[in-house]
Amino acid sequence: MNKTTKYILDFAKRILAIPSPSGYCEKVIAEVVTEAKALGFAVEKSKKGNAIITVTGSSSRTLGLSAHVDTLGAMVKSITAEGNLRFTTIGGPIWPTLDGEYMKVRTRDDKEYTGTFLSTSPSVHVFKDASQKERNPETMIVRIDEIVHSKSDVEKLGIRPGDFIFFDPKTTITESGFIKSRFLDDKISVAILFGLLKTIKEEYITPVTTLKIIISTYEEVGHGAANIPEVDEMIAVDMGCIGDDLSCTEEMVSICCKDSSGPYDYNVISKLVKLSQDNELAYATDIYPYYGSDVSSALRAGNDIKGGLIGPGVHASHGMERTHASAVENTLKLLLAYIKQA
Ligand SMILES: [Zn+2]
Repeated sequence: MNKTTKYILDFAKRILAIPSPSGYCEKVIAEVVTEAKALGFAVEKSKKGNAIITVTGSSSRTLGLSAHVDTLGAMVKSITAEGNLRFTTIGGPIWPTLDGEYMKVRTRDDKEYTGTFLSTSPSVHVFKDASQKERNPETMIVRIDEIVHSKSDVEKLGIRPGDFIFFDPKTTITESGFIKSRFLDDKISVAILFGLLKTIKEEYITPVTTLKIIISTYEEVGHGAANIPEVDEMIAVDMGCIGDDLSCTEEMVSICCKDSSGPYDYNVISKLVKLSQDNELAYATDIYPYYGSDVSSALRAGNDIKGGLIGPGVHASHGMERTHASAVENTLKLLLAYIKQA
């Protein structure tokens, strides 16, 4: 593994360890801002909390590159009479994958309590439907690790509806080069953009266009990059889909030609494909059936831009995700080629 890939995976681990469901991104953005400054780049924050890093280019044109640092999560909806938490999800996790997962709930007065997501039929010795019961927020609860027997016991801990619930991401990097973790969507891409910044710095690269690197915070709920700085083109770097009818693998960079929000810009996609071919990258062009990106939200909000979408192939997205160092490297190489030619 080369030193840039190692840097990317180390930074990914750092930000994966900071919980950041949509609506709770201040801490992770602070880490992003610190790292951008440490690399020597100008960084500012938008009012809603996105970080925007600027790299000055050699022409008057501007390219936006975005990745979202917000993730799925949950929020306390109510407290049951027995002292368990009912929850609402933030974004769209695969609910059955939550069953048995560890979590933390954070109160408004900064206390954190651990717990576990469980079905409301959590024991085979007691419930006939323990295996068959559907898993969704109506049939699941959170059991917190405190001695509580009633709603008021839980309220005494300071827990109330509206408190954020963080899933344990279970980040693991294997000897074989796999990165498995929740929320590789899209923290692995945030880390890849930092790999790009580090390479720009170390190799004294002046991009052809000025770069506005947007680290967005509300993508999972649909308006991450609705508001962006003035750019001519924008490429969202977000997880590449793998599965049914798709050709991407965990080793590839995926180029998305069309998703639920419609086709991406013809010229941007054609340029991405050509650069992948010219640089002999492992890549795939695919159609994502259920997907929207920061570029989709920027276009819907009325920004007049040409948009594209690429990202490392991520298996089992919004569940127990996994990608490989090769996909990280292919994505970085494509971005580097693009900023030298854009
Ligand atoms: Zn994403």
